[in-house]
Amino acid sequence: MNIAERTKIIRDRIQNACQRSNRDINEITLLAVSKTYGSNHIEDALAAGLNQIGENYVQEAVEKFDKLKNKQLTWHFIGPLQSNKTRAIAERFDWVQTVDRLKIAQRLNDQRPEELLPLNICVQVNISQDPAKSGIMLSELPQVADQISTLNNLRLRGLMAIPAANLEQSQLRLQFKEMSRALAELKKHHPHCDTLSMGMTGDLETAIESGSTMVRVGSGIFGPREPK
Ligand SMILES: *Cc1c(COP(=O)(O)O)cnc(C)c1O
Repeated sequence: MNIAERTKIIRDRIQNACQRSNRDINEITLLAVSKTYGSNHIEDALAAGLNQIGENYVQEAVEKFDKLKNKQLTWHFIGPLQSNKTRAIAERFDWVQTVDRLKIAQRLNDQRPEELLPLNICVQVNISQDPAKSGIMLSELPQVADQISTLNNLRLRGLMAIPAANLEQSQLRLQFKEMSRALAELKKHHPHCDTLSMGMTGDLETAIESGSTMVRVGSGIFGPREPK
């Protein structure tokens, strides 16, 4: 199967999940997660109508970005953030979805070039309270969100979560719904927040039925990844 054929299957799955949950398909952004796949694969994704690209590793992303600079693509950073890599991200990406501490937000703000639009930010929430995963606890969200909102070169857009692997379906649904309630709460103080990034190839239906507005799909679009 090629990228266009796989993308069609993912779009059908999104459509079915929207129908089941009475949602408008236009509320859902499909983010193509291209980690480990080269720039030629991203060009195929673009030809299949995908222009939102997610990358996890800075070095790998920079190489692809520099090859694809002139294409109409929106770049989302969705990997672990290290202080010494923030500049490369601030200079190239449109979104960073994995902000989990103020210090990183401040660096991204300071390093965002003035001629670019503000960097769109999602706060990563450790919704499964998994010690091995990054992300803030929901109890910290009000303070973190208020602080990020004071940074002029950033624009807070919402929340992102990666639940623990191998959760029971019912647990997964509960955690996704908790995220959805957290976004609703966040909107009361930050009304322009409109993004709930959750759901991947394996669980996008559950995520959409629980309120996701952005699903991050890698293997379902590009094919299975080689172990890194
Ligand atoms: C790799 C990755 C994805 C995509 O995972 P698939 O299971 O291949 O769809 C989504 N989100 C994040 C943060 C990832 O690292």
